[in-house]
Amino acid sequence: MKLSAPKGTKDILPSESYVWQFMEDKAKFIFDKSNYKEIRTPIFEATELFARGVGNSTDIVNKEMYTFIQKERSLTLRPENTAGVVRAFIEHGMFKLPSPLKMWYKGPMFRYERPQAGRQRQFHQIGVEVFGIKSAIADAEVIQMAMWYLNELKISKLSLEINNLGCEKCREEHKNKIKEAVKPILAEFCEDCNIRYERNSLRMLDCKNEKCKQLLASTEIDAIINDDYICPECSDHFIELQGYLKALNIEYTINKRLVRGLDYYNKTVFEITSNALGSQNAVCGGGRYDPLVEMLGGPSTPAVGWAMGMERLLSLMELPKEENLQVFIVSNYMNETIKIASELRISGICTDYDLGNRGFSKQLDKAAKSGAKYALIIGEEELKTGNLTLKNLLSGIQKKFDKNELILKFCNKKN
Ligand code: ATP
Ligand code: MG
Repeated sequence: MKLSAPKGTKDILPSESYVWQFMEDKAKFIFDKSNYKEIRTPIFEATELFARGVGNSTDIVNKEMYTFIQKERSLTLRPENTAGVVRAFIEHGMFKLPSPLKMWYKGPMFRYERPQAGRQRQFHQIGVEVFGIKSAIADAEVIQMAMWYLNELKISKLSLEINNLGCEKCREEHKNKIKEAVKPILAEFCEDCNIRYERNSLRMLDCKNEKCKQLLASTEIDAIINDDYICPECSDHFIELQGYLKALNIEYTINKRLVRGLDYYNKTVFEITSNALGSQNAVCGGGRYDPLVEMLGGPSTPAVGWAMGMERLLSLMELPKEENLQVFIVSNYMNETIKIASELRISGICTDYDLGNRGFSKQLDKAAKSGAKYALIIGEEELKTGNLTLKNLLSGIQKKFDKNELILKFCNKKN
């Protein structure tokens, strides 16, 4: 039997991993400068965490989870990471630490979906979460970081959409209005929308099904979503956020239909999309989830965050050039070669040589194809004099150095 990676997963090969490292390095730089600390949580969690923490009206919980039973305990591969971070926040009493707590994460997520461009079953997210700040300044800070990151990756044609979902109090009436509007034609909506109708009617606005979209458009829905149901506190929050975004010169549009895929959001929700992607056009989704910590058994703690899909970032960004190997040693004196290679490496110079110990001219060929900037030649003469020949593989110019000079040359200037 020919073995292959499971459907919807992809190997990240040695020839591509430098791009992933580049993305991760950029993210780390931004998180470090913004004083966010990394958190690493398990890749699987108790199923109940996601059922409660993501919400039972969501596609994720209803049909996308990889769940398995181990010794009568139901476990699930994480489909997203906010629930896991909140679980850790509560479990380790992080709410007792000085507020705010600012964290970031990266890693694989798992959703049983139909694989297509930009949609995999194992995919990778980078995300941030801020705990303990009620004010919209935290919403603005995380949005600024997302835009900064996308800029650093040189991703253009982006649009930021924001919406205000209100809170549990002001939203209830709104949900009921949606229910009233769709009730007469409910049977015509898809099965999922019928479930959403019962569990969280707001989520009907998020249905991707064309027929449901048309059905919805035939109701009073436009009037309802424009209805001023938001309470003064939630309304002030949204105005405050927009003030910060303006101060930051971040362009945005308000999309009243934006509800986001998870159940626990309140007040701010946002999405960053790229016009360059096909139908899978969302690169970043986030929002405020003030009720979640308490819902999962912790003390009431406001929180806001976002997650980005790294595969989608990769398909949009300008690919960096891989520049790593500095020196390729060409020599048939293997004792000397392995010794100098180890010295150069320990000094921080990326060095390689021909482990296959082929003939001299084959090695020179290999050096030229290796991507290294220099070939370091150790022949008989070099062995005798102790002066090593360094050949610039681009210009062909050769110079002689003794070993210490060589190390200094590489360490003093960035080659
Ligand atoms: P979509 O509407 O595209 O299904 P979502 O609302 O399910 O997105 P979130 O749960 O908010 O997505 O996840 C945040 C980001 O993770 C998305 O904006 C997207 O970039 C990425 N993402 C989500 N699901 C997948 C997937 N199956 N494959 C690749 N990336 C994904
Ligand atoms: Mg989805």
